[in-house]
Amino acid sequence: MKQRAHPPRTAWALLETGSAAPPADSWALFLDVDGTLIEIAEAPDAVHVDEGVGSLLARLSESLDGALALASGRSLDVLDRFFAPLALPAAGLHGLERRSAAGEVSRSDGSAALEPARRDLERFVDEHPGTLLEDKSVTLALHYRRAADAEAPAREAMEHARAELGSGYRVQEGKMVLELKPHRPNKRTVVEDFMAEAPFRGRVPVFVGDDITDEEGFEAAQRAGGAAIVVGLESDGRRESVARHGLGGVRELHRWLEALRERLAGP
Ligand SMILES: [Mg+2]
Repeated sequence: MKQRAHPPRTAWALLETGSAAPPADSWALFLDVDGTLIEIAEAPDAVHVDEGVGSLLARLSESLDGALALASGRSLDVLDRFFAPLALPAAGLHGLERRSAAGEVSRSDGSAALEPARRDLERFVDEHPGTLLEDKSVTLALHYRRAADAEAPAREAMEHARAELGSGYRVQEGKMVLELKPHRPNKRTVVEDFMAEAPFRGRVPVFVGDDITDEEGFEAAQRAGGAAIVVGLESDGRRESVARHGLGGVRELHRWLEALRERLAGP
């Protein structure tokens, strides 16, 4: 059953003394990256990672006995570059790549299957200046942030490419981006897979994200008795999320994570 969407309450309530939420030291933290830990940029390779975010994540991970994972549409290589020298447990490419807490990396191999779609979408991008095809090997992301007029034809091209690939694929909507990807894994299976393993197992999942792709992670976390926090919901024109908690934007999340770390460090 789908959880109901509604306007979220502030996530600061989760950190209040006497909050009904499970205590912070029992959490397993799942963090989306773009639009959550870092601001979205005009182009996917133009992002800026704030100094200090990596060290904050390192300290949080330590306080949670390692139960902190990144859940992103980016590849593991890119995530590692963003937060070097950290190499956190992470699901990259929406879970098509995964590094467990033990450091084992697994990758799905679906690059060849996308070949017809890749050819079609490359042609589309050539014909629509300002659009950009991000080839993540096992998914294809079509960006139209710099060509808002191209939204309708981009949708059509993606839908056509998906139909050619058959029922194992879907088009995931994002912020000025459409991504062609397999149905599984997704952010729900990412949460479930990590929660089945140490040091996540036995903890309560708390999922933080900003985009439509994160909604499945939100549902999984809340269904498991944990919490979901949507970042920058209203700044984005979206009104509703299944997440019961929210924060105003990336900077507020940084302050919230800092407060969480202080709380975990104890009085
Ligand atoms: Mg995001």
